[in-house]
Amino acid sequence: NSDLILYVNLELINKKSERRYVIIEMLGQGTFGQVAKCWDAETNAYVAVKVIKNQPAFYQQAIMEVSLLSMLNEKFDPDDQHHIVRMLDFFLYQNHLCIAFEMLGHNLYELLKRNSLRGLQLKYVRTFSRQILDALVVTKDAGIIHCDLKPENILITPNVKTAAGVKVIDFGSACMEGKTIYSYIQSRYYRSPEVLLGYPYTTAIDMWSFGCIVAELYIGLPLFPGASEYDVLCRMIEILGGQPSDDLLREAKNTGRFFKHVGSIYPGNEVQNAPISAYRILTEEEVEARESKKPKVGRWYFPRGRLDRLIFTYPWKNLNGENLSETEKTDCLALVDFLRGLVEFDPNKRWSP
Ligand code: ADP
Ligand code: MG
Repeated sequence: NSDLILYVNLELINKKSERRYVIIEMLGQGTFGQVAKCWDAETNAYVAVKVIKNQPAFYQQAIMEVSLLSMLNEKFDPDDQHHIVRMLDFFLYQNHLCIAFEMLGHNLYELLKRNSLRGLQLKYVRTFSRQILDALVVTKDAGIIHCDLKPENILITPNVKTAAGVKVIDFGSACMEGKTIYSYIQSRYYRSPEVLLGYPYTTAIDMWSFGCIVAELYIGLPLFPGASEYDVLCRMIEILGGQPSDDLLREAKNTGRFFKHVGSIYPGNEVQNAPISAYRILTEEEVEARESKKPKVGRWYFPRGRLDRLIFTYPWKNLNGENLSETEKTDCLALVDFLRGLVEFDPNKRWSP
């Protein structure tokens, strides 16, 4: 990716440590390293510094994060209007690549937890969704796939101007569209069907994750909290009331891990009102036999149900769904319609930002 590296001034990486950043406290821990709240002695402001593990694979991926984020910041969002975190600096310290970001607030997972996993008021769901979409328009235009969109990677912006806001962070798994190298990407609950099934992926995978996030912000719990990939897929089929198309299943590399081919479809073979498929999802027993270990089916956090029922009755906002006011009904219908466009199995039919 030499064209990307152009955005990183490699000389900067080698500059001598100036003891510019003073660690105040640890903010978070992830696969790539640790994030510390620091005092920037040069600008007299707090910053968040991500200290990358000193192993080559993490270093390489972090260079990618620096490249993509500087491109996004400088070229696609010079005026900081599109809800993407700002990178302020990067340097090498004791063999650790460190990236300094503007200091943001809690992540959306922490916010939901504080709210006893009851979900947010619709007005906040709307505001946050619009802002995340704004960020996704920019990443799509830049040809960048975030690859790890989830509540932990969306941070509340400090309330400087009183208005509630969020920013997308963590481009540590991101890649360029058309230069997709890894097949094992996205966090499981937010993993798109094409990644699960091993089908070529595009920026549309971020829109799937986005749909999962919007639903979670409203209901307060993950939409597809599967204990395994098989479990995630079963939940998708149950909640969406259908399965990926035969065309997708035929082309995907991992279909055999989840589905059994039960025959071809001949014209005139269709059953009234029931889409007929050449594939059926494996039973738990079949998965068990195949994997020689018990499939992790996990527990349901809420009763199994269709998407519309879920939205109309959760999260205890209005326990008797039948007694919703007319406005609430209209809002729920609109939300279900919006989610249907996002958690759509077919990446080509799925809504773009
Ligand atoms: P990883 O790639 O290891 O997941 P992240 O960049 O997502 O690293 O950071 C891990 C956690 O650190 C985040 O979920 C968040 O809670 C915290 N964090 C990261 N960046 C910031 C920031 N700019 N301001 C405040 N907290 C942050
Ligand atoms: Mg993260």
